Amino acid sequence: MRTKLALFIAWMLVMALTAIPLAAHNVAPPYEVAPEHIVQPGETLFSIARHYGTDVETLCRLNAIADPRHIYVGQRLRIAPSTGMPDLSRWESHRLRLGEDAELLSRLAGVPWPTLGAANRLLSPQSLLPGLSLLLPPRVGATRLDLVAPEETRMTLAMQTGLPFWTIATFNPRPLYGGAIAVLPAREGEDAPTFLPSPIVAIDLAPQPLIRGDSAILAITTTVSADCTLHYLERVEPCYHEDERHLIGMLSVSPMLEPQSYTVTLELVPRDGSVLDLSFPLVVAAGHFSFERIDVPADRQNLLDAQKIRDELATLDALAARRTETRYWDLPFDYPVHAAVSSYFGSRRSYGGAFNSYHSGTDFRAGTGTPVHAPADGVVVLAQPLFVRGNAIVIDHGWGVLTGYWHLSEIDVEVGQLVHRGEVIGKVGNTGLSTGAHLHWQMWVSGIPVNALQWTRAFFPLPPHEGSAAPPQ
Ligand SMILES: [Zn+2]
Repeated sequence: MRTKLALFIAWMLVMALTAIPLAAHNVAPPYEVAPEHIVQPGETLFSIARHYGTDVETLCRLNAIADPRHIYVGQRLRIAPSTGMPDLSRWESHRLRLGEDAELLSRLAGVPWPTLGAANRLLSPQSLLPGLSLLLPPRVGATRLDLVAPEETRMTLAMQTGLPFWTIATFNPRPLYGGAIAVLPAREGEDAPTFLPSPIVAIDLAPQPLIRGDSAILAITTTVSADCTLHYLERVEPCYHEDERHLIGMLSVSPMLEPQSYTVTLELVPRDGSVLDLSFPLVVAAGHFSFERIDVPADRQNLLDAQKIRDELATLDALAARRTETRYWDLPFDYPVHAAVSSYFGSRRSYGGAFNSYHSGTDFRAGTGTPVHAPADGVVVLAQPLFVRGNAIVIDHGWGVLTGYWHLSEIDVEVGQLVHRGEVIGKVGNTGLSTGAHLHWQMWVSGIPVNALQWTRAFFPLPPHEGSAAPPQ
């Protein structure tokens, strides 16, 4: 752990020293300081090379190391040549597609990975994930990818395509073999390269990395009508149909999840075709959570009745299990009250003992009677007093997205009612297990409590839901 942290700090320091104004145009950025790594205990030149997506020979050459076994703790190693950074002002934004790794990108761009990594301030090639936007040389848009057939070489490719051998060799500096991906110049009028298994033509996942307690949206574009399911963290979730050729998956992770890289497997079933399995990483970052000790007033101690807490949770779990196929919501959601946040989602909590639970919602400090608004369209699926949560409302917004409102003094909606964004649904109160007037705003995505505040930002581009375009009545 300490090694990784030190690595990260070393890299951040280097990045800070070499910060490049990416937004500034027509400025040839100075790049005198090359990325550097300080050798940590237990590291080998091989592990360092792999971490930065380079190789042992390059590191030996850059650092004039005769014997790769002879490095020492604290030694400063150059990771990339200091011979200047290319003119980034002409580089273009490129959204990573599945299958584009450091090696392939470096061939597409004609620039070594350490330079691409430094230009994009990426820690390591492991952070290359589909959906991520990278700054790359404009030539990437003018290339195409081709799967190399068995027996094919750079020479046969040259003859086959009618391109000079040196053109093939420029894009593919190492020999090609059957099954490898060849980079070739684009044909006249051809689109940017894709290397996705048919019938998938595009795949987007955002945000990445995912902060635990947040949600991510996966959008898949196919050439034919298909269904899909997502398998991750021992969960199976359906995809939703935005339209015939656009599928959307909703991913969510608990705020208590161990931060690391997990695997998502997408199982795509075209209406007339065979099942396709596609796996990709879901990187979960730690995020920041505070600690709160909650004192329960003596007159409400009886509310800490284990059986009643379990029964109430079972009611809510049943609602959170809903996977309504209609999307009523649009991003971003509104705030449900005009008030300040008094406790954030995910805060580690202790009710007089250990910090073994977390705050499953966002609390807003507001006086009793303050109106509570629907943050997005949806259907009311619960509107009743609960033992712990007091007067409660739950709205199903569709696609496995639900929101809850606890401790209300007044409920102004009924079950089955379609509510619109901005509509008053109830009033802030202090009912149930509450230590003062406030609104607890709960949110579930795919059955897991998530940070609703993330949804007040447009974290994924989705067209407005059907019906929202209709004129207001
Ligand atoms: Zn709360």
